[in-house]
Amino acid sequence: MAAILSGKDVAAGIKSKTKEESEALRAQGIIPTIGILRVGNRQDDIAYERGIIKNCDSVGVESKVYELPADVTMEVFSATLEEMNRDSKIHGILIFRPLPNQLDEEKIKYMINTDKDIDCMSPQNMVKIFEGSLDGFLPCTPAAVMEILKFYNIQLNGTNTVVLGRSMVVGKPLSMMLLNENATITICHSRTKNLKEVVSGADIVVAAIGKAKFVGKDFIKPGAVVIDVGINVDENGKMCGDVDYEEVADMAGNITPVPGGVGSVTTSILLKHVIKGAKNKS
Ligand code: NAP
Repeated sequence: MAAILSGKDVAAGIKSKTKEESEALRAQGIIPTIGILRVGNRQDDIAYERGIIKNCDSVGVESKVYELPADVTMEVFSATLEEMNRDSKIHGILIFRPLPNQLDEEKIKYMINTDKDIDCMSPQNMVKIFEGSLDGFLPCTPAAVMEILKFYNIQLNGTNTVVLGRSMVVGKPLSMMLLNENATITICHSRTKNLKEVVSGADIVVAAIGKAKFVGKDFIKPGAVVIDVGINVDENGKMCGDVDYEEVADMAGNITPVPGGVGSVTTSILLKHVIKGAKNKS
C-alpha cells in the first residue's frame, strides 16, 4: 500500500511560516493585503473566495474584494485593475477566471502589475519559469505540487517524470519547474500515442487532465510516486482526482489523495505569495 502524501501537513507548515512573516511585516507597519477581483456571482468563485478569506484571516493577511457585475465592460474592468495595480496597500492581486467573454483575457494578462501577480497570470512572470528563474511568482497549483515533493523529500534529479496535461495553468509550467530540478520530463496530452506504455515507465507521475479516475493501476510502475492534481466529481457525486485512488494506491510507492492533496496546498501558496509581494515593497 502506498504512503499517503498529505497536502494538509504541507499547507500547515507553509501557513505557520506565513503567519510569522506576516507578524514581522506588521511590526514594520506593513499590513500584507490581497486584492481579489471577482466578476459576477458564480457559486464556485464565492466558495473559493470564502475559503481564501478564512485562510487569510488565520495568518494575518488582510483581504479586500473588488466585485464587478457579470456584464461589466472592459473599460470598467481595466480601470478597477489599474486602481488595484496602483494601490500601494495591495500586495497581491488575484483575478478569478474564467472571465466572461466580453473581457479580453489576452489583454488583461499583460495589464496586471507583475510585482503583484500572485497567481502568475502575466506572461512576464511565466517566462521567468521557462528561463529557470525564481525571481517572479510561480502559478499556485504547480508550486503546490513542488512543495509537496520537497516536503516529503522526493528526489527529482535524474528521474523519469511524466506530466499528464499541457495547460498553461498546470501542465506546461509544472513541467518546466520539474525540469529546473533536473527531472527528465515527458509531457503527455490527448494526442499522445501508447499513453499507458509511456506513463508506466515513469518514476514520478503527475496527473492534470481533468478526467475522473482516468489513471488506473495499469498506468503505474510498481513503487512510482503519483501526484494527482485533478479535481472532478465521480459517478456518485463525490470529489475525486484524475487517478483511480483505490486501484493505484496498491501499486504506487507514494500517492496524494483527493481531497486532501494538491488542492489543500494551493491556497497556502497564494498567502505565501502575498507576503512575497509585501516584502517586495518593504
Ligand atoms: P485543461 O486546461 O482542461 O487541460 C487538460 C489537459 O489534459 C490538456 O492538455 C489535454 O490535452 C489533456 N488531456 C485531456 N484528456 C486527456 C487524455 N484522455 N489523455 C491525455 N491527456 C489528456 O485542465 P487544467 O486547467 O490543466 O486542469 C487539469 C485538472 O487539474 C482539472 O481536473 C482541474 O480541475 C485540476 N486543477 C486543480 C487545481 C488544484 O488546485 N488542485 C488547480 C487547477 C486545476 P490537449 O492539450 O491535447 O487537449
